[in-house]
Amino acid sequence: MDLPYRGRFAPSPTGDLHLGSLLSAVASYLQARKNKGQWLIRIEDIDPPREVAGSAAGIIRDLKSLGMTADEDISYQRQHTATYLQAVTSLLSAGKAFRCACSRKQLKDSPVYPGTCRKLGLDAAAIRLRVDNRQMTVPDNLQKTREYSLNDDIGDFILWRADKLPAYQLAVVVDDAAEGITEAVRGCDLLDSTPRQIYLQECLGLAHPEYLHIPLLTDNSGRKLSKRDRDDPLNQLQPVAAIRLALQLLGQQPPAEIIDLDTLWNWAIGHWELKNIPLRLDNEYIT
Ligand SMILES: [Zn+2]
Repeated sequence: MDLPYRGRFAPSPTGDLHLGSLLSAVASYLQARKNKGQWLIRIEDIDPPREVAGSAAGIIRDLKSLGMTADEDISYQRQHTATYLQAVTSLLSAGKAFRCACSRKQLKDSPVYPGTCRKLGLDAAAIRLRVDNRQMTVPDNLQKTREYSLNDDIGDFILWRADKLPAYQLAVVVDDAAEGITEAVRGCDLLDSTPRQIYLQECLGLAHPEYLHIPLLTDNSGRKLSKRDRDDPLNQLQPVAAIRLALQLLGQQPPAEIIDLDTLWNWAIGHWELKNIPLRLDNEYIT
């Protein structure tokens, strides 16, 4: 059975909308429109220490001024804490997760969690998911299929943080399922989150969305453009120019004569081609 397409853009409210995140927004929006589906916005506000006041409202306002509005009410992760807690409690009861008392310092030489607390039955705040010792194949609608060893590449990962906040992987998996997301379109910085999320979906008995990772925008020296870059080109651009730039970076070639936003979006929806997205985003369009 083919489910109706449901996609989402899920920014963290840690700053302004920048060009890198706009590319994820545009790609996810066009995938949803092209597939005659729904496009949702989810604010990933589960990390109050990193949050910038006013950022969520600013991102939503910027998206709207760029012609992108969600088809349903905007979802805020902070309002879903009870659901996340329910999920992690079920994993603990099923013996699929365990409490961990390791400090950051204790783990600093272990890129993959060494399993220290697996069988200790501790009474600690942090909770980790116990991973199986097997391979996982992760398909992608744009990137090459990737292979991971859950044990050696991933390790038991955090579901609930020592500071008593839900971890990113848990929140995303619970929300993608609750919101019926059929395809997650996002940047390649999240490639290695995907096997974690698929494994967690298995443990929770949830459906798997498909995944599509778009390449990251880098500067001339190959460094990822981040929201700390004050010279983000988005600041200087009018909406039509900003969407045109995003489309060009995504390998789409809108005709120069289109000068209004509605016409540009109509063109983009009609002509959106995944196969034109370059494997490496070229910044030749950024001046
Ligand atoms: Zn531990």
